[in-house]
Amino acid sequence: MDFKKTKFGRFMNCRVPASKRYQPTEYEHAANCATHGLWILPSLVGGSVLYFLSVDQWHRTAAWLYGSGLTGLFVTSTLFHTAAWKISHLRKVEQRFHMCDRMAIYFFIAASYSPWLMLRELGPWACHMRWLIWVMAFVGSMYVFFFHERYKLVELLGYVAMGAVPALVILSMVERSGVCELALGGVFYAVGVAFFKSDGLVPFAHAIWHLFVAAGAGVHYYAIWRYLYLPGPLLQTSR
Ligand SMILES: [Zn+2]
Repeated sequence: MDFKKTKFGRFMNCRVPASKRYQPTEYEHAANCATHGLWILPSLVGGSVLYFLSVDQWHRTAAWLYGSGLTGLFVTSTLFHTAAWKISHLRKVEQRFHMCDRMAIYFFIAASYSPWLMLRELGPWACHMRWLIWVMAFVGSMYVFFFHERYKLVELLGYVAMGAVPALVILSMVERSGVCELALGGVFYAVGVAFFKSDGLVPFAHAIWHLFVAAGAGVHYYAIWRYLYLPGPLLQTSR
């Protein structure tokens, strides 16, 4: 379906070749900022809730790491999209914000896995993923720092590897509750990528991608809150 020929066409600009950056319309810029800006406060509250539900130092550290990664993602994304909208003429500044946005994704993935890796019983090899995931986030960030936007396929593969490899460890967990929610969150991210790649084909494609990210993060938050932090019989931790 060609949206450009419909009444929704005015909300988006024409598609650009892969080597160029898509230029969103004013409507799309506003939607890009709103669809992530909206989640800054809830993610701060959500992180704090986990922190106050913590029963020991491991819980507190995991809550802090996860809350920071979650809030950090929405803050950097909102800052970048605001910069891309309002100060795009300052190319260098916008570029820096874009790099931070990309780096934040690596740390967000590491942060999302951390509560599971820290609060669940893992095998003698699998437990190394607790620190390895932060090394991966650091390596990914260094890659962004040196090669930002140069090899887009490598960048995409980096995110896929970072998202998929720790999942193998999670599957080896002794206690399996929450695995379905983790997979469902992963499905939201994976489906969202289709919109991430649809700038200029679907109006508000990037904002829709943002909503899928928020949905995936929401499902993951629910699982962490329910299975790792909620007191009572549902709390399943054994280290
Ligand atoms: Zn974005």
